[in-house]
Amino acid sequence: MQRRHFLITPPALALGAAAGSALAAPAAISAQSSILPRRGKGPRIVVCGGGWGGLTAARYLRELIPGADVVLLERNPTFWSGPMSNKWLVDIVGTDFVQYDMLRPANRYGYTLLQTEVTGFERDRRRVRTGHGLVEYDYLVLSGGIRDAWDAWFGDDQRAIDHARTHFASAYIPNQQMHALKQRVKDFKGGTLVMTLLPPPHRCPPSPYERACLIAWHIKKHRIPGKVVILDPKPTIAPIGMGYQQAFEELYPDIITHVPNARVQEVDPFNKRIQTSAGEWKFDEAILMPPHQAADMVWHAGLIGRDAAGKPTGWADMHPRLYHAHGDDRVYFVGDLMGPVSDQFGHYPKSGHVANYIGRIVARNIAERVAGKEVTPLLPDNLCYMMVNGDPQEEISVKFEYEVDASGRVLQTQIDMDLRSTEMVQEDFAWARSKFADFLAL
Ligand SMILES: Cc1cc2nc3c(=O)[nH]c(=O)nc-3n(C[C@H](O)[C@H](O)[C@H](O)COP(=O)(O)OP(=O)(O)OC[C@H]3O[C@@H](n4cnc5c(N)ncnc54)[C@H](O)[C@@H]3O)c2cc1C
Repeated sequence: MQRRHFLITPPALALGAAAGSALAAPAAISAQSSILPRRGKGPRIVVCGGGWGGLTAARYLRELIPGADVVLLERNPTFWSGPMSNKWLVDIVGTDFVQYDMLRPANRYGYTLLQTEVTGFERDRRRVRTGHGLVEYDYLVLSGGIRDAWDAWFGDDQRAIDHARTHFASAYIPNQQMHALKQRVKDFKGGTLVMTLLPPPHRCPPSPYERACLIAWHIKKHRIPGKVVILDPKPTIAPIGMGYQQAFEELYPDIITHVPNARVQEVDPFNKRIQTSAGEWKFDEAILMPPHQAADMVWHAGLIGRDAAGKPTGWADMHPRLYHAHGDDRVYFVGDLMGPVSDQFGHYPKSGHVANYIGRIVARNIAERVAGKEVTPLLPDNLCYMMVNGDPQEEISVKFEYEVDASGRVLQTQIDMDLRSTEMVQEDFAWARSKFADFLAL
């Protein structure tokens, strides 16, 4: 396989261009520049976002389309995994288990990696705007993950948004806030730690409860006089509701309080106060999770879906079984930013497992199109392991399977494994290692 690897790590240049703004940064990329490989006979496929989905898509696009010129655009210098990061927060795994070099897979699989900010699109001319200039494409894969919709709580009150993000962010977006959150957990010396959960769909539905369990385990282990209050908008814990309920009651009866039907109505981050539909809560420490939406890049591409009333759904507007945009079949979606796929269950779980799976499927779909074949739709599955106890280490899990009925509707079957076990810990680590091996070339 031909090797191509270019990584630009200039000072603030890549991160400097404001999202959505007209291209302001110097055009380091141009038809004449040597930063990108010269256009060859094969198609140019540009993947925006190098997380679980984008790294997988880039690998398989190179493997399945000989001669394709695959370019991956990613803002961060390193990969940081969401899966396993709750365990990292309480020192069950080290940083070397969640953070990885991104040049290694680019070199191994032979795609071009550019560290740059995607700032916009010119879809009529098939070009991506980046902090370094314009990148042309024949096919485009958007895999930018999610954004925190702080404005759902604070409107345009930027002071409140900045304060909440600086002091109480959930770190559900990789790389940005993880170290600050870990420091807050370490510095928590007692009192009430409130976690607001968010209305579905959102990134990794079972993982906020896993985080609550592991923080409670940390509190128990270090005999901190603290409590964890989970403000949950849902009427019951889900998924793996029984497994989590038992963990809360049996392992952390004096530490975790789960409050159902607690929809956030007002947040005062300055006075540490939250008004919900289940009452008012004051906190000493908080992990605030505003609603999730598709990453900015989908909004910049003008490809956000709309509901019957014409309001933005917050997620990509896409074909539910072929994963390309409605209205622009040169653009594909992979991972958490994807829109709904079924009127039975809505969205696929926004998980690393699904992002990895769809990354492969989309690579295969584009390969079939390039080869002039008809694309047959494929479905993913999903599997998530969640640690509920640190000593002994014990986990529960949830599995989702999918099939298509006679009318073409995608149906979901959910299998909760509520009984916590140490065997599942081994399975979880084996799962994570196999996924990292798949797209990080470990
Ligand atoms: C605490 C936690 C626990 C989790 N546990 C699990 C688990 O056990 N199992 C599981 O399967 N999933 C789990 N997940 C979910 C998993 O992390 C996500 O579902 C997965 O990362 C989605 O992949 P993605 O490629 O869509 O997004 P990401 O992995 O977030 O990748 C998106 C990438 O796009 C980049 N990007 C975004 N915008 C731009 C831009 N404008 N320019 C350049 N680059 C950009 C980002 O920097 C990022 O690297 C967990 C998540 C969290 C937070």
